[in-house]
Amino acid sequence: MKNPTYHNFATGPFQRFDDRNSGFSRFHREQLAKIKNLEDGQKPSSSSTARLQKGDPAKIGKRTGFGKKDYALSWGGRTIDYLIRGNLYSRSADVAPTKVDLPDRSILSRQIKNAARWYGADLVGICEVNQAWIYSHWGDYNAFYSGGIAQAGDPIEIPPWIKYAVVIIVEMDYEDIKRSPAIDASTSIGYAKMAFVAASLATYIRQFGYHAMPSGNDYAADIPLAIDAGLGELGRHGLLITDEYGPRVRISKVFTDLPLATDTPIDLGVQPFCERCELCASNCPSRAIMKGERTDTAWDESNNINVLKWPIKAMKCMHWWEKNGSHCSNCIRVCPFNKPTGMLHKITKQVVKTTPIFDKLLVKADGILGYGKQVIIGK
Ligand code: SF4
Ligand code: SF4
Repeated sequence: MKNPTYHNFATGPFQRFDDRNSGFSRFHREQLAKIKNLEDGQKPSSSSTARLQKGDPAKIGKRTGFGKKDYALSWGGRTIDYLIRGNLYSRSADVAPTKVDLPDRSILSRQIKNAARWYGADLVGICEVNQAWIYSHWGDYNAFYSGGIAQAGDPIEIPPWIKYAVVIIVEMDYEDIKRSPAIDASTSIGYAKMAFVAASLATYIRQFGYHAMPSGNDYAADIPLAIDAGLGELGRHGLLITDEYGPRVRISKVFTDLPLATDTPIDLGVQPFCERCELCASNCPSRAIMKGERTDTAWDESNNINVLKWPIKAMKCMHWWEKNGSHCSNCIRVCPFNKPTGMLHKITKQVVKTTPIFDKLLVKADGILGYGKQVIIGK
């Protein structure tokens, strides 16, 4: 496809998002304010969501799926993520002094994708950088983990000669996500894997004499970049839906001036399907996901405007996480696009792509066949 499917729903020019308005940043500020009140200005030693990931000692073990070992497994999985955030993400390190002779763009792009897969990526796509997707300012949460290179409110600019983004997808474990809203460790491990792949790929690219900057959830909106790179579409739940894993993925990227061939956006049939399916909205414990028709009206400052979609009530989601004592992946667990690989699912996806008339039936079949149910298997 020439244009991504979100173009069909644009009602005005896309605008850069200020990361201080993200749910994570707002929740982080809110938690800091609470702590300041409680402890007379004392700074916390860890972020708001890190405290969620480690669990409240008074509540650990009181519910199935929230035991000490569940929290420990998840928190352990984050180790590499936080190391890379504080040392390698959002940095443009030294490049090799001489540029090497490069092969044809399409061969080079294949080489870059192979390297990313070698480091652990499950899917890789390349797009030109649309400046509208670069955050205008650093948000509180991402700045907190930036190792001191940024403060909330610092402006963000990507120079125009950094033309490309290599977008990296890592899959999260299908069985583990079924545990939600109990603790799933695969979200944390997904963060660690995306950090490892992006940081390794950036180092690889620099050996050819070109600039490369790895980035996780900071610096730019991952989902539109991934859509532009042909990796999926936006779903009602505000997440990327890929062909291979549905929304059960994490995204990172490497910005570079290496001259690459770009991929083209894809149409998986997600847009008409989401119009007929509301499983994520019905199973969202905080009612943060909208039912009904799309709108281009924002709930609040956490929503980008000028596109018809189902804006998420970000703070409702964050406050539910707080109450739950952990993050939540219900919207991923119940989404009919979240399926293990197999011939039956391949055929079903083909039907979704070509014959939207069956969408409602497929949503019903999903429930009858028991997909999307919570299952907690001990580790
Ligand atoms: S993560 Fe949970 S609370 Fe947040 S939108 Fe998804 S289902 Fe709702
Ligand atoms: S659960 Fe249904 S409505 Fe929600 S994103 Fe998935 S397909 Fe779309």
